[in-house]
Amino acid sequence: MSDEIWVVADLTIDGNVRKVTLEALSEARRKLAGKLGGQLCGVLLGSGVSGLAPELGKYGAEKVYVINNKLLKDYTPEGYAIALSDLIKRHNPAIVITGNTSVGQDFFPRTAARVGAGLTLDAVDLDLTDDKRLKVQRYKYSAKSITTVEFLDNRPMMTTIRPNVFKPEEGSKAGEVVNESVDLKPEHIVTKIVEVKRKQSERPELTEAERIVSGGRGLGSEENFKYIFELADAFGAAAGASRAAVDSGYAPFEMQVGQTGKVVSPVLYVAVAISGSIQHFAGMGSSKVIVAINKDPEAPIFQKCDYGICGDLFEVLPPLTEEVKKLLAQQ
Ligand SMILES: Cc1cc2nc3c(=O)[nH]c(=O)nc-3n(C[C@H](O)[C@H](O)[C@H](O)COP(=O)(O)OP(=O)(O)OC[C@H]3O[C@@H](n4cnc5c(N)ncnc54)[C@H](O)[C@@H]3O)c2cc1C
Repeated sequence: MSDEIWVVADLTIDGNVRKVTLEALSEARRKLAGKLGGQLCGVLLGSGVSGLAPELGKYGAEKVYVINNKLLKDYTPEGYAIALSDLIKRHNPAIVITGNTSVGQDFFPRTAARVGAGLTLDAVDLDLTDDKRLKVQRYKYSAKSITTVEFLDNRPMMTTIRPNVFKPEEGSKAGEVVNESVDLKPEHIVTKIVEVKRKQSERPELTEAERIVSGGRGLGSEENFKYIFELADAFGAAAGASRAAVDSGYAPFEMQVGQTGKVVSPVLYVAVAISGSIQHFAGMGSSKVIVAINKDPEAPIFQKCDYGICGDLFEVLPPLTEEVKKLLAQQ
């Protein structure tokens, strides 16, 4: 049994380390490593991923376990779960963390089941109890309450963390690379990757974006979503949508924010013509500043936002977009 804390890197389709990995390393260094007394380690799973180890070192990983295997080139839940569970059984870390991305949510539960570990998802706070058990906080009831969860003394203790909640901060450790292997066979991979399609968008990824502009059913058509995209581009923001807008065919599902869509935590969330249902709030309630634009003064979103503009979006958005462009151009 070791006291190591592992952060499993989440990679983009282009093979870069996602920001949430650096956030996890930074928070684990600040809140867990000193108290637990073990080494903070990164874990890289993939094919040809050794070159990413220095980046994990830069954010505090004292050691980086690397499994390079061509069967891990494209993400599959079986491949990742087998590789990580084998590595866990070999080294017995105390805590294992990854980002609460679609990949993390997919393979962490499978890995936890293979190693008999306790698991929580979507943590927004990390800490240790006095007897060194992992303690996390998570939102509950559509972000209306926060639950504190303490693990039993059963190792490893595994959790995913919500992107954009913890501050990434460079550390000073070198990141010694430890190459590992896994006995992975083609017959273990039952998922067949047929094609990997790259999204054609210059806008930031919703779950990692610092600013988001979202549109609701009040936009009235797919064409009118251009107002959302124009304001999003002026801010350098990602574009999102409510489920009603997605169900009406105004925006694709990948833009849906909420209980059945993506969970986001930006610094700025602008909700345009969105009424403010609890299901929408479940996905964006932890945003730091919420701005609502709605023509109905009774819309529930006005009870929950930091700033509200009561008006017709078609009159408010064009001049607002121009002002944002002007102001940001001056900076
Ligand atoms: C199990 C379950 C899961 C769900 N998951 C999600 C989810 O993940 N995400 C999600 O968003 N919802 C989800 N919903 C749906 C949710 O309950 C709401 O129906 C939905 O969020 C409403 O979307 P909306 O605010 O865009 O539409 P509406 O409620 O129709 O609100 C439209 C708003 O636009 C305003 N408006 C109209 N025209 C204008 C204008 N010209 N200018 C300014 N304002 C205008 C109106 O005043 C109104 O407030 C879920 C529901 C269920 C039951």
